[in-house]
Amino acid sequence: MTKKPQPAKISSEPVSSDEAVPLFAIANDLIEKYHHHLRQANIQFAWAYSWTPDDDDIRQLGKAKKVADPDRAMHGFDWIIMLNREAWEQDLSEAQRVALIDHELCHCGVVYTDDNNPKLDEHDRIVYRVRKHEYQDFADIARRHGKNAPGLVEFGESAQLELFGKEA
Ligand SMILES: [Zn+2]
Repeated sequence: MTKKPQPAKISSEPVSSDEAVPLFAIANDLIEKYHHHLRQANIQFAWAYSWTPDDDDIRQLGKAKKVADPDRAMHGFDWIIMLNREAWEQDLSEAQRVALIDHELCHCGVVYTDDNNPKLDEHDRIVYRVRKHEYQDFADIARRHGKNAPGLVEFGESAQLELFGKEA
């Protein structure tokens, strides 16, 4: 018997439009409450499949990726918010999901001009930037979500973070 070759594994893919409905419900609510600068942002959600626990058994749950040209010009998305699908579906409570998306939205910053307007590029698109965990608003996330956002553990300099640890 010949063995069928195994297809290469997919590491991530866009969340389908059906599955994205509840994600956008959470995100839009958070944007209206806390992230007004993202009202015009074109956000895509993606499932991540390839994030495995590190040596301390800590999993990455999400990541906000700023889309740079030429990709941004090709598909029009400003941000891709990647979510660990396994954790999202199996381990996170609804309150934790909201805290996670709030956290990822907090990474999505805008570059401002000296007179405090969003900086635009030559095509009149808002210029975005990734905010790091030192940014003041991240402290508010803990206040907003209390025990649903304990044990914030950072992964070096990257915009990656484990919200809930292995005991969640
Ligand atoms: Zn983070």
